[in-house]
Amino acid sequence: MNDIIITIDGYSACGKSTLAKQLAKELGYIYVDSGAMYRAITLYFLRHHIDWTNAASVHTALQSIVIEFQFNEQAQQSEIFLNGENVEYVIRDLVIAEKVSEVATLKEVRSFAVAQQQKIGEKKGIVMDGRDIGTTVFPDAVLKIFMTADITVRVERRFVELFNKNPNITIEDVKSNLEMRDYIDSNREISPLRKADDAIELDNTFLSIEQQLALTLKLAKEKLTQPD
Ligand code: C5P
Repeated sequence: MNDIIITIDGYSACGKSTLAKQLAKELGYIYVDSGAMYRAITLYFLRHHIDWTNAASVHTALQSIVIEFQFNEQAQQSEIFLNGENVEYVIRDLVIAEKVSEVATLKEVRSFAVAQQQKIGEKKGIVMDGRDIGTTVFPDAVLKIFMTADITVRVERRFVELFNKNPNITIEDVKSNLEMRDYIDSNREISPLRKADDAIELDNTFLSIEQQLALTLKLAKEKLTQPD
């Protein structure tokens, strides 16, 4: 059976990474969190006070950024490293979420991230989640999923995650962040968030984590047993 590429795109906090991680585990594939790359770049820009409205500054900064993923056996998850530092947790902060979509509109930032994502996908056998994976990064992927969920459900899910780390966070902070990111991601000029024509839409508002996994695993197995 030939390995395939599975893409999972969709709005913020739809549970894309939860599904992608589980699917990858079930299939023995590698999970790649493309959003983590944009978050790590944003972290670098903020730490080094890079003026990202200036193309030359962005160009120079990107030359100093090395992003890698490493599998943490203990945590049983893939984690992102920025210039050798594990930034898996720090990039989840709302401070990063407030700026990441702006940074992700930049042409050079996207080319930098997409080139690396395509390189990782060369060997197939991956599940990658993001916003433009089925449309731009892997337009020929065999299985494309586009996730949606009701905004109230998404806000609640993300609020619980963030509140555990920072009890000062409010539901309103989370809601406005998700709405802002969805707006910028859907309306940017380069690779805006949209469902690929051949993607399967999955609304998980009323689905449990187990149900969505069972559904998508079935789809993946169908694709895997189809002749090329
Ligand atoms: O997936 P996550 O919410 O961590 O992504 C953070 C942000 O990175 C998104 O809101 C979006 O602005 C950007 N992103 C992107 N393209 C991707 C993945 C993420 O523009 N493929």
